[in-house]
Amino acid sequence: MKLILLGPPGAGKGTQAKQLVDRFGIPQISTGDILRGAVKEGTPMGVKAKGFMDAGGLVPDEVVVGIVRERLQKQDCANGFILDGFPRTVPQADALKETLGELGKDLDSVVSLEVDAEALVERLTGRRTCKDCGRGFHVKFDPPRESKKCDACGGELIQRDDDKEETIRQRLQVYDDQTSPLVAYYREQGLLKAVDGMLAMDAVQEKILAAVQAP
Ligand code: AMP
Repeated sequence: MKLILLGPPGAGKGTQAKQLVDRFGIPQISTGDILRGAVKEGTPMGVKAKGFMDAGGLVPDEVVVGIVRERLQKQDCANGFILDGFPRTVPQADALKETLGELGKDLDSVVSLEVDAEALVERLTGRRTCKDCGRGFHVKFDPPRESKKCDACGGELIQRDDDKEETIRQRLQVYDDQTSPLVAYYREQGLLKAVDGMLAMDAVQEKILAAVQAP
C-alpha cells in the first residue's frame, strides 16, 4: 500500500500512521520526525532546518524532497509506505510524482484527515512526547499514569518546541496557505479519500482502512 496521510498539524496523522505500520508492516515516513532527528544530531541539514521549524514555517522544498527521494529507495519501502507530513506544497507533490515515476511506482490513496481548527489547537498544546522512546501522550485525552513520565519506559515527557500556542497558529496558517491546495490536487487525480478526524482514534483507523480498501 502506497499511501499519503494528509491533514493539518494535530489531525492525528502520526498516530494513525503508527497503527497502519503495525497492521501492514510497511514503514511510516515522517519528514517531521526525520528533520527533528537531524536537529537533535546537529547535522548540517538539521542546523539549516531548525530555524524554519521553530518559526512554524516550512523547510525548503529541495531539502524535504531530497530526504523523501532517498528514503523511498530503501528496501523496506518495496511493499509500500505511509507518507506522514509530506508532501506539504504543490511543488513537493509534483516532485513526489516524478520520484515515484522513476521508481516505477504509483500512489494508491491519499487520505485527508479532516478536523476543526479549534480542536487542533487543543490537541497540539496538550501533546507530549517521551524524550527516550518517542511515545506520544496528551495531557487531557491520553494522560500518562504518572505526571510527565512515560508509561512505557519511564522517560521524561516533553513538549515539542513548535507545539507552543503562538507557533501552532502560524503552522495552521501555513497549512491553509500552502498545504490545503493539495486536497484539490489529489481530488482531481481521483486519489483523495476524506476521513472524519474528529472521531475517536480507533474509529478513525477503521474509516481509514475502509477508505483505502474501497475500490
Ligand atoms: P510535523 O512533525 O509533520 O508537524 O513537522 C514539523 C515541522 O517540520 C513542520 O512545521 C515543518 O517546519 C517541518 N516539515 C515537516 N515536513 C515538512 C515538509 N514536507 N515540508 C516542509 N517542512 C516540513
